[in-house]
Amino acid sequence: MTVVAIDGPSGVGKSTVGKALAARLGVPYLDTGAMYRAIGLLARRNGIGLPIGDPERVADLCERAEVRVTGAGGDARTFLDGEDVSVEIREPEVSRYASAVAAIPRVRRRLAARQREMALAGGGVLEGRDIGTKVVPEATAKFFLTARPEIRARRRFDELLRKGTPQDLGAVRAEMEARDRADSSRADSPLSCDETYVVVDTSDMNAEEVAERLQELVAGARAG
Ligand code: C5P
Repeated sequence: MTVVAIDGPSGVGKSTVGKALAARLGVPYLDTGAMYRAIGLLARRNGIGLPIGDPERVADLCERAEVRVTGAGGDARTFLDGEDVSVEIREPEVSRYASAVAAIPRVRRRLAARQREMALAGGGVLEGRDIGTKVVPEATAKFFLTARPEIRARRRFDELLRKGTPQDLGAVRAEMEARDRADSSRADSPLSCDETYVVVDTSDMNAEEVAERLQELVAGARAG
């Protein structure tokens, strides 16, 4: 069974690369950030404000909710209690909620357990912040993607433009950097990597080139 962990900061291209790599390897693609986004959306719908004053209430909501992500053939979708929330979870405000709920240990425990279960059921390419450190430390291969901040901001900006929801480039960059700071400095499972990862700087590569490179490295890891 093949389990690939792809971790890294926001806007680095993990989703695009993850989907392409999963298609190349013929395994499911699992966007774990989408699960935190769904719980962020759930918190917002329940009238919880930011910063979150009552993390236990969010954790209770999370434990009662059913979050499902599907990812076959590049069509990744997210369901919250049966409702398709794939579009709504991409709103900038939901990004902030996602980062806030992701700092709550009970929320992390619940979602990480579900992610691990899915990975071990049929293998897959899992993409997030703590996949190789916490969710599947025994993964076949672990990658930490990086790119210069201005490039990451531009990629996110282009993505928003393509989706018909353009935003100011400076605002995109500020929001991305704020989220990275929060994700890297939280106490529970901060964004980090160690010597078991291969670090890939994607600044000067397109997504297909990165996917191809990772595929070669996975083949090497399987052989070794
Ligand atoms: O990857 P994406 O931007 O969709 O993730 C949204 C948020 O979910 C991140 O900013 C991070 O706070 C959280 N996250 C996490 N652990 C993961 C995946 C995402 O904490 N494995």
